[in-house]
Amino acid sequence: MTTTNDKPRILTGDTPTGRLHLGHWVGSVENRVRLQDEYDCYFLLANMHAFTTRAETPDDIRTDTIEIVRDWLAAGVDPERSCIVLQTEIPAIAEMTWYFAMLLGYGRLMRNPTIKTEIDVKGLGDKYSFGFLMYAVGQIADILAFRPQYVPVGEDQIPHIEMCREIARKFDQLYCGVDPKLDDADYVQGGGVFPVPEGLVGRVARLVGVDGVNKMSKSLNNCIYLSDNEKQVKKKVNKIFTGRQSATEPGDTTNSLFQYVDAFITDEGRVAELKRKYAAGDDIGDGHVKAEVAEAINALLGPMRERRAEFEGPSGEATVIDIIKSGTQRANVVAEETLWMAKEAMKLDFFPRNLSLS
Ligand code: ATP
Ligand code: MG
Repeated sequence: MTTTNDKPRILTGDTPTGRLHLGHWVGSVENRVRLQDEYDCYFLLANMHAFTTRAETPDDIRTDTIEIVRDWLAAGVDPERSCIVLQTEIPAIAEMTWYFAMLLGYGRLMRNPTIKTEIDVKGLGDKYSFGFLMYAVGQIADILAFRPQYVPVGEDQIPHIEMCREIARKFDQLYCGVDPKLDDADYVQGGGVFPVPEGLVGRVARLVGVDGVNKMSKSLNNCIYLSDNEKQVKKKVNKIFTGRQSATEPGDTTNSLFQYVDAFITDEGRVAELKRKYAAGDDIGDGHVKAEVAEAINALLGPMRERRAEFEGPSGEATVIDIIKSGTQRANVVAEETLWMAKEAMKLDFFPRNLSLS
């Protein structure tokens, strides 16, 4: 099997633990949409990983899997150019997870700050499953299965990308004889199976949620969803807490509300004016700023709502499943090719196999 597209690749994805929110847009999805022409793009539905925290709710995971694809399509992902990939139908990923697990120390994994924060913020205590920790290894396999150059992610994912880069180097050095002194950019040229991929953080690295405290996160009930209607957007923006008492009190333009001003009001002159007045306490209340923020967000989401409507309902769902199937078929060609290259390097190339999705 050979791959058909010579453009450099991008791999990224989302876990179907809920619908997509504005944090996804500014942190990663916006970059994905922008890079579709220049790169061969693979967008992964990490539905297996959704089971690491929600094993008891398979119905919700299925629904969210479909909803996330609706969100991607609404946001501008074009299934003709980019592959939408279902993790559970890419067996090479599950297989590579095993091999990579052997190259990653348990202590190293537990020092990953994103894992620690997730355990803390999601209230997992010491009750998390063995599989929960496996997701971090699995994510390395998600990425490396596609041998990508870039991985567009939010800032919270950078520790995961760093672990992925370590494993790519380790594999290439151990099984492909790559010289450890080589620059990261030269690993493939130096005989490695895997490139050392780079994270690509979006224009807002970490959008705060409407609680004004934690990162906007679908598990934390602090989100503005891409699929929210105008009224919901207004209501949620109104909730953003600043602690400011009056329109004449000098305000802090680095507060949560102004993170939204910076992220969503596109007129730079207006942003500068709002900041100047707010900082001076020049008769500009939080309510006024919030109304402008809500208007800007609704202007962004309006066209998405229209595109999303095409994929609603049972016939829309059937279209979505067709799109997932065709992307997954194309993705399996790449992932199987990668697995075979890895198996050759690991002396596991007893005989090749052919995979088909009927
Ligand atoms: P969960 O609560 O289930 O972890 P999540 O909202 O954190 O969900 P993920 O599926 O874990 O979403 O993340 C998908 C991508 O979106 C990742 O690249 C992540 O870094 C990015 N992302 C998520 N939330 C934000 C945010 N608030 N700001 C910037 N990027 C974000
Ligand atoms: Mg997350």
